[in-house]
Amino acid sequence: MNILLTFDYELFFGSKSGSVEHCLIRPTERLVRLCEKYEVKMTFFLDAGYLWRLQKEKDSYPELHKEMDAISHQIKQIVRSGNDVQFHVHPHWEKSFYSEKGWKIETSGCYKLSDFDQVEINGILDRYYHAFCEMTEVKPIAYRAGGWCVQPFSLLVQKFEALGIRYDSSVMPGVSFHSEHYAFDFTDAPRKDNYAFQTDVCLETEKGAFTELPISSMKYSALFFWRLYILGRLFPSRHKMLGDGNFLPQPGRKKKSLMNATVNHVSTDGYFASKLEFYHQSVSKRGQDYSVVIGHPKSMTEFSFEKLERFIAKNRNKHRFITFRDLE
Ligand SMILES: [Zn+2]
Repeated sequence: MNILLTFDYELFFGSKSGSVEHCLIRPTERLVRLCEKYEVKMTFFLDAGYLWRLQKEKDSYPELHKEMDAISHQIKQIVRSGNDVQFHVHPHWEKSFYSEKGWKIETSGCYKLSDFDQVEINGILDRYYHAFCEMTEVKPIAYRAGGWCVQPFSLLVQKFEALGIRYDSSVMPGVSFHSEHYAFDFTDAPRKDNYAFQTDVCLETEKGAFTELPISSMKYSALFFWRLYILGRLFPSRHKMLGDGNFLPQPGRKKKSLMNATVNHVSTDGYFASKLEFYHQSVSKRGQDYSVVIGHPKSMTEFSFEKLERFIAKNRNKHRFITFRDLE
């Protein structure tokens, strides 16, 4: 099986953005070291709106200049070490800005691309794409929508065809969520590990120009989430996230997951990493060819680093750890 370990490289979007050092630089350094140690590769979906904002505002604040240097240095190191960087878009950077107090994250009415009209979307994608290319010196071929809000994909088709973006990895089969900020519905997504599509990410289209590699998903019991929340309280040194910001709320989602079994992503984030081995053992028996694991440097914990390392050590000769570039 081909396993794609993917990490969304971004700050937090709740009331506290968190520091670059703790959300990005330090955990990502550890991830890159893991790759070197075990000779595997990972994909980093870089928050291109953040890169664009940084480039735009860096000259007004000396501390932002430093932040930009640290990010730029790390991204170059990711690329040099043979890991992959791809395109992640959180359009709320349109309205978020920097002040002496730090980043002021504004998400109301601008969290997802579909909050904007077609002309605005084209402008955003162009600017973010160029900021991405300038920083990385590579052209992205794969996309992951911020907050999984990739629908309707028809708004992105023309621009993506022009920019050469031909893979998407935003779909989590079986998961849907709607709130003030979020809107995605993958209830009807094909239960396949890769498929072609054209304008609807949930509709396989044989001759479609795009390929979906959905994020692996599985069923989690309510007990899993009780454990997740309780362990975090009892053993913070092992289970506390390394990132120092807070999440944009997802109202109702936590409560639902504590009451009933729910479908969610297969992930390296925190306690989710405890299921990596179990999930991959079961799907490789069923002959699955691809698995996309999602994670975030900011959401890594000491526990998840341990589980991830054990997972890689155990599987590096059994499966192939590839990136989106390897699909070409
Ligand atoms: Zn994101």
